[in-house]
Amino acid sequence: MTQHFDLISIGGGSGGLATARRATRHGARAAVIESARLGGTCVNVGCVPKKVMWQASGAMEAIHRASDYGITSPAPVLDWPTLKSRRDAYIQRLNGIYQRNLDKDAVTLFRGHGRFIDAHTLEVGGERITAEHIVIATGGKPRWPDIPGAELGIDSDGFFALEQQPRRVAVVGAGYIAVELAGVLAGLGSDTTLAIRHQTPLRGFDAMLQQGLMDALPQGGVTVQPGFVPARLSGEPGALVLESADGQRMEGLDVVIWAIGRDANTDGLGLEAAGVTTDRWGNIPVDRWQQTNVQGIYALGDITGQMPLTPVAIAAGRRLSDRLFGGMPDRHLDYSNIPTVVFSHPPIGTVGLSEEEARAEYGNAVQAFTTTFVGMDYALSDEKVRTHMKLVTVGDEQHIVGAHVMGNGADEMLQGFAVAVRMGATKQDFDDTVAIHPTSAEEMVTMV
Ligand SMILES: Cc1cc2nc3c(=O)[nH]c(=O)nc-3n(C[C@H](O)[C@H](O)[C@H](O)COP(=O)(O)OP(=O)(O)OC[C@H]3O[C@@H](n4cnc5c(N)ncnc54)[C@H](O)[C@@H]3O)c2cc1C
Repeated sequence: MTQHFDLISIGGGSGGLATARRATRHGARAAVIESARLGGTCVNVGCVPKKVMWQASGAMEAIHRASDYGITSPAPVLDWPTLKSRRDAYIQRLNGIYQRNLDKDAVTLFRGHGRFIDAHTLEVGGERITAEHIVIATGGKPRWPDIPGAELGIDSDGFFALEQQPRRVAVVGAGYIAVELAGVLAGLGSDTTLAIRHQTPLRGFDAMLQQGLMDALPQGGVTVQPGFVPARLSGEPGALVLESADGQRMEGLDVVIWAIGRDANTDGLGLEAAGVTTDRWGNIPVDRWQQTNVQGIYALGDITGQMPLTPVAIAAGRRLSDRLFGGMPDRHLDYSNIPTVVFSHPPIGTVGLSEEEARAEYGNAVQAFTTTFVGMDYALSDEKVRTHMKLVTVGDEQHIVGAHVMGNGADEMLQGFAVAVRMGATKQDFDDTVAIHPTSAEEMVTMV
């Protein structure tokens, strides 16, 4: 007999799991279909293993800098296989926790590839299941360049599968994933080049952050190769040759990592059978209620192409279930003022509009306050990595519409400031807040 549910999530990643679990908490019958490991991209090949690697490279940096304080130790040696197996074991524990959470919340899990038969029917593993509401949360997958020899490279999933530390690496891409992987590899001692198409990475971020990063990357050991449009990869591991369209060459590479973006994961999903349309990038467009063009079918998370971040997928999913089953008819996600962090070296934290975006929207009503300094973490060091901060305000009231930080601690600093920005804080509110001394964060409330 066909099993029927109130809601089925296709995809057991950040968004799909959150939606289904919230639905059952409101008393609905919910199911999740997952074809790979529970937890999706973030847990298995995204945020979590990436953060572990970032922490590992931070530990390496701390050992290098300990001598500033008169603490000496033998030169650190990284045992990559140990790091990888401990990281993998941690993720396996998380996979187990996700399974137990589903059991606890009475969400039914179907293992296999889900595909639409019609707008209310799905097939998984030869079985047909139906639901009033179907949520597409199938995420994204790494994009590969269409050039000769591309298959000799790896993507970010391949990075997490590396069994040995590459000696010489080129990371191709200018988005946050490329920046983070390059920083981690260099921090752990690999000879790393970041090949970017334009002049700076993180295009779309505030110009101060882009420029700050251009200064910080070489300090972190990353060679930046601007204006590099990959045209061909050849050779073999250890002797890979990466060539650009204008004849630049990188030779003797162990590994080339493609980090040039991500594409929507709609393979074999049978969207046509349900009548769901995609946009020209392959993403599934939705309205503010996460509703696709077909009544009763929703999409959320990376598949929508809107702010591809784990907490965004989770928030959209929980709000959708609150609306459908929790008696909250107006509940939906507000996609403005979503904070985010880039785990570069040092990290970047940002919320709201860049100065450029604010000027385009509000013109002369915009005022920007900036500061740059060397934080106390470098007080005794010969090396000086600068911290950069900016507040972007609008109007006579100086409402803060953007807050941007690059510097040690920015990753943990921004969440609280995001609350303030979301609540409509003004520059005066920041000025009236007593500083915490001595910290870097205090500069956020002392800018003039
Ligand atoms: C290297 C990297 C680092 C990242 N770092 C961060 C970070 O620091 N912070 C952050 O917020 N975000 C980060 N992200 C982004 C984050 O991982 C995604 O935004 C998030 O996972 C999106 O959740 P989702 O539910 O949309 O999709 P996913 O988590 O990708 O889940 C989709 C799931 O659907 C399954 N699936 C697909 N098709 C089918 C099908 N037909 N049937 C059954 N199952 C199917 C897949 O197997 C997958 O498990 C990172 C991503 C990467 C790649």
